[in-house]
Amino acid sequence: MKYIFVTGGVVSSLGKGLAAASLGTLLEHRGQRVALQKLDPYLNVDPGTMNPLQHGEVYVLADGAETDLDLGHYERFTNSILTRANNVTSGQVYETVLSKERHGDYLGKTVQVIPHITDEIKARIRLFQETTNADILISEIGGTTGDIEGLPFLEAIRQFILQVGPENAILMHVTLVPFIKAAGELKTKPTQQSVAKLREIGLQPQVLLCRTEQPLDPEVREKLSLFCNVPLDGVIEARDVEHSIYEYPLLLQQEGLDEKVCRLFGITTPPAQMSAWRQLVKTIVYPTHRVKIAIISKYELQDAYKSIYESLTHAGGASDCGVSIIVVDAEEIELYGPEKYLSNVSGILVPGGFGDRGTEGKITAARYAREHGIPYLGLCLGMQIATIEFARHVCNLERANSTEFDPTTPHPVISLLEEQKEVSHKGGSMRLGTWPTLLKEDSLAHRIYERSEIAERHRHRFEFNNTYRSELEAGGLLIGGTSLDGQLVEMIEIPDHPWFIAVQFHPEFQSKPNAPHPLFQAFVAACMR
Ligand code: GLN
Repeated sequence: MKYIFVTGGVVSSLGKGLAAASLGTLLEHRGQRVALQKLDPYLNVDPGTMNPLQHGEVYVLADGAETDLDLGHYERFTNSILTRANNVTSGQVYETVLSKERHGDYLGKTVQVIPHITDEIKARIRLFQETTNADILISEIGGTTGDIEGLPFLEAIRQFILQVGPENAILMHVTLVPFIKAAGELKTKPTQQSVAKLREIGLQPQVLLCRTEQPLDPEVREKLSLFCNVPLDGVIEARDVEHSIYEYPLLLQQEGLDEKVCRLFGITTPPAQMSAWRQLVKTIVYPTHRVKIAIISKYELQDAYKSIYESLTHAGGASDCGVSIIVVDAEEIELYGPEKYLSNVSGILVPGGFGDRGTEGKITAARYAREHGIPYLGLCLGMQIATIEFARHVCNLERANSTEFDPTTPHPVISLLEEQKEVSHKGGSMRLGTWPTLLKEDSLAHRIYERSEIAERHRHRFEFNNTYRSELEAGGLLIGGTSLDGQLVEMIEIPDHPWFIAVQFHPEFQSKPNAPHPLFQAFVAACMR
């Protein structure tokens, strides 16, 4: 197996994840089997407990792992199958080492960062050689060089490269080359210093991926090469993409990144054939049609709903339609009413979420969609919201609610299952990962998926309360999908509406630019109509 380690320098948010994913795309187009891994130096065991405002979306894998949003890029840009082994955090590493220590596995030794933590990190990198048939592992290290918490990872990589041999491992450093207006020039010093930091601990990059707003002229390239000790053809310019992140692989190919990587590894393959990808980008960037869709949110940060944005983009691409997303703050709807924000949109989407802030605004938005015949897509919390709205305003169940938001509601249409209440005390009550759903014949869901059984990813605690099932059905709600035993309601729809579907799962985790998710496709198509 060949290894590519990706580090970041100077500042965060340089798009290391996108760079790693895009390189993955190019290498796959050269016939290589690629695996991608994210190593996160923070102490949380996983990002599941982190506020999306701080950390962006929690991306859920098929096996139920709650992971960093970069894994979403990996899945969207490549065909590699990801499991919980693909996102390693310091928290997990320490948890393993500490439990071994309590077990007495270290036989009286002093347990230390080096070698015990670094050995555990190396084991988690080496794992891929045994568990996958990938030719190349791209392993991205979160954070920025110079971070104290990142040091054990960098030391582990140094040892790892020594052990597998430099011919089998590449270090790609993603860095910033800022343009300073006052001087009218690009500055290489921050990059020099971040590479110096790497070399201090014995790491020498072979590739510098330079994020820049301006083209790197030959002089700048030579300076970077000479002072960072990187051969000139390893200095790769990475300009900001103009329209879409899916342009990034094309841009990096033009700069010769995949060619350089293959050369370093001694891999001989024909150049990547990117014409289908290029066509895809074209339909995404230059659509004939355009629709406006409102996402009723409570997190302003765009990263909090990353996969939803991407899924809408993919679906738009399939319909030659650009999707303009309007983010509407649910709390503003509570204050000023829905009319001001929703009267000129073609679709309304209520995404997932936790906690009661903004829920009344979301309920108002769902009502607005239902009463005005505006296409509605509810995702996870968005299904619970639609259920509450229907119960209150169609079935006249006053103060109907989820017990998450109102534990004393007279009509808990969304609640915990009896058996979950037990589990919740042990802190493990979340339903996570892929579960099958049975679709009802003659439902809109069945027409969209064109089959009777689907598998989608979940991340939620509360469920549709079956006590209210027949009452809501009598009111005109259709249960379009359930768990295989029929017990859990997974999808609802309103037949007496142009397009109204809400789902308990997260379809946004299974959409790719070249394989748009059917539900998002149908939603965008309905919005266009
Ligand atoms: N808070 C809700 C629950 O736990 C919805 C979760 C979500 O939208 N991901 O069931």
